[in-house]
This record gives sequence, structure tokens and C-alpha cells, in this order.
Amino acid sequence: MRRSIIAGNWKMHKTRRESVDFVRALDVLIGRGPKPEVLVFPPFTALADVRQAAAGTSIGLGAQNVHPEDQGAYTGEISAAMLEDCGCSHVLIGHSERRQLFGEDDELLNRKLRKICTTSLIPVLCVGEQLDEREGGRSQEVVLKQLERGCDGLTGQEISRIIVAYEPVWAIGTGKTATPEIAQEMHAAIRGWFDDRFSSNVAEGLRILYGGSVKPDNASGLMEKPDIDGALVGGASLQADSFAGIVAYDSKA
Ligand code: PEP
Repeated sequence: MRRSIIAGNWKMHKTRRESVDFVRALDVLIGRGPKPEVLVFPPFTALADVRQAAAGTSIGLGAQNVHPEDQGAYTGEISAAMLEDCGCSHVLIGHSERRQLFGEDDELLNRKLRKICTTSLIPVLCVGEQLDEREGGRSQEVVLKQLERGCDGLTGQEISRIIVAYEPVWAIGTGKTATPEIAQEMHAAIRGWFDDRFSSNVAEGLRILYGGSVKPDNASGLMEKPDIDGALVGGASLQADSFAGIVAYDSKA
């Protein structure tokens, strides 16, 4: 049984104060009972404060990016060891904004993934097709190629730590969610790829999150699907009440 995950990607939002206030409010709203794994991905500047505010709660901490080298002359970059030092357990890589706006390609993401696999961090690898690729009937080809290149050279043991987030680019921040059926079809293809490429054990254990305009009112329909193991949430993760509404998707099913 795969435990579901609800993860909030805050992107370039929230000061340290706002981040701490959010975590305190979210902790009260979601309570301490059984629930999905809850993760927030604040900006780098708020990681240490969120770690302190989240201590003793069920809210986990991730970073939005990492550099593949350990240290060196890489102005503006952050290493995996620095993220561990800030108390992060997870790190996002390959978000479509990193790919599109910052030119990150599969080869770089593969180097990041290999580095992360030598640390305690759990990578959340984002994949997803553009609108024209979906309209051209190439969605699966594009997404599976991102996985093939991104996961190149990794062993079954390394890959068993990974989380995948399927985020169709046309659904991110647009209010156009993929239907549960569209998302399920891709999630099943992703799981099938891990089965073929690694093993059925790896595929069965793999958690695949859906991302793209997830809101409290569409989360339960998506999460009911057998291969959807959680959500990566952008816009709706910025307000504690809407994020808590997604965490509580189960109570609405
Ligand atoms: C995201 O940026 O990862 C995302 C899914 O954003 P939104 O929920 O706003 O579509």
C-alpha cells in the first residue's frame, strides 16, 4: 500500500515570516490524526525557519532545486549537503519552470538525480508534456523519454527512492486540470515504464504525484485513481486553508 503525498511547491512566494505563519496555521488545520504525507517546498531563504516551525508537526520539508556538484564556483547555486544541513528531506528536480525558464535539460537533471541518490534527500522528479505535444498525440513518448534520459545509469536500488510528479505543462497554473482519466492513463504508463526498465517491485512501490491546477474541489476525483498517489500543488498550496482542503481530500471522497 503506497502512502499518498500532498506536496506544496511555493515557488518564489513567501518571506520567512509568511512561511512560518503558514506552517503554524496549516498544522492547526490538518491536526495530528492519520493523513497523507504532507510536504512543503518553500524558497531557499525560508528553509531553516520552516524547519524550526515544523518541528514536532507532521509537515515535512523539501527544496525546490539543487546543484549536482558538491561545492565550488557556482554563484547562486545550492548543494545537496546545504539542503540536508537545512533539514530538508526532499528536493524537486525538473519542474517545468526550471526546464522552460532556466534551460534545464534531461542531461543536467540526470546529473542532479545521480548526486541526490548519494545523499539522504529524496528526489521528486517532475515530468510532463507541453500542449502541442499532447495535441500531436505525443504525450507518452515525451514523458517516457524524459524518464529514460533523467534516470539513465541509475540502479534499481537508487531508483526505488525516487518520487515522480507528472505535471502536464498545459495544466500548470492555468486552471485547466487534466481529467482524472487523462492523468490515470499517464500514471499507468509511467508505472509500466518503471516495471519494464527496473522491476515490478520498483514499479509497485513508486509514488507518482499528479500536478496541474489541483484544488480542494478536484483533488478527491484525481486521488481515487489507482495510479495517482498524491498531488504536487502550486497555486492552491499558498493559502493554508486551500492546501489543508487538499490534504483532507479523503474526507470528501
Ligand atoms: C506546480 O507548479 O507544480 C503546479 C502544479 O502549479 P499549479 O497547482 O498552480 O498548477
